[in-house]
Amino acid sequence: MALFLHNPELFGSSSPANSPICEVCLATSLQPSPLNSTTAPGPIYTLPRCNHTTCRTCLTTHYGATLSPHRDITCPTCLQPCGFQLKPPHFTLYNTRHRKFLSQGRHIPILNPASPHYAGTQPLLLTRADSLAILAALQNDASAHYGTTLATENISHVAVFQKLGRYLANCEAVRLTTPELLQAEFKLMIEELVLEHVLLQPGAKYHSLAKNFRTEDAERDFDMLCHFVRGVKLRHPEFRVFLERWEGVVRWFVGVVAMRWWERFEFAR
Ligand SMILES: [Zn+2]
Ligand SMILES: [Zn+2]
Repeated sequence: MALFLHNPELFGSSSPANSPICEVCLATSLQPSPLNSTTAPGPIYTLPRCNHTTCRTCLTTHYGATLSPHRDITCPTCLQPCGFQLKPPHFTLYNTRHRKFLSQGRHIPILNPASPHYAGTQPLLLTRADSLAILAALQNDASAHYGTTLATENISHVAVFQKLGRYLANCEAVRLTTPELLQAEFKLMIEELVLEHVLLQPGAKYHSLAKNFRTEDAERDFDMLCHFVRGVKLRHPEFRVFLERWEGVVRWFVGVVAMRWWERFEFAR
């Protein structure tokens, strides 16, 4: 038994006339909730036992709020079990549907607020095994797509993937986050890597300036480092291209992670 989905396309649209409404937040598949303008229009589900309708944000938030690995889905309106469980988180590189995800994930502007597909603030559960598998799959595809621009003279693309992988491996096994937060964390980690190589490591080009960034004021240090990264991007096209390409890879990763999380509801059995 699958959830009945009024909008079968993951990001498709249907006509307003037959668009059902979420009984929790009043969103439709075309219009976000009037209570929360940051939600994205998305599919509306009818839950099989109680027939309540709920939007993707309300269903996934309600489920995710428990942060529990249990797989029974309950209805956000009546709190009754829906009679099915969430699909387990086993992303594999060689699964055909997952291959399709990888190519879709690069193009769907989940993180662009101007896009009708924007869903950057929708909560999602990041599971360690699944996100590591997605990162590994992306390492192949992103390397093939972007080639040598994912590396600088001193930073290999493998080193960046390893840093991101270590971060995911050390995360809680299950973590509540949003696509935007995940993007911001990854962006900072990649900038840290650049800072290590141009500033912090002994022998780095700007290492003589590193002492300026070791004050007692962590907030001030952080601000200065952000400015410094901007300066590096302006002065060194190599790093500008590198950071821009990695922004693309991060958007791609976050897109796949988000789609994968939503898919687990749409194909639940
Ligand atoms: Zn809703
Ligand atoms: Zn219900």
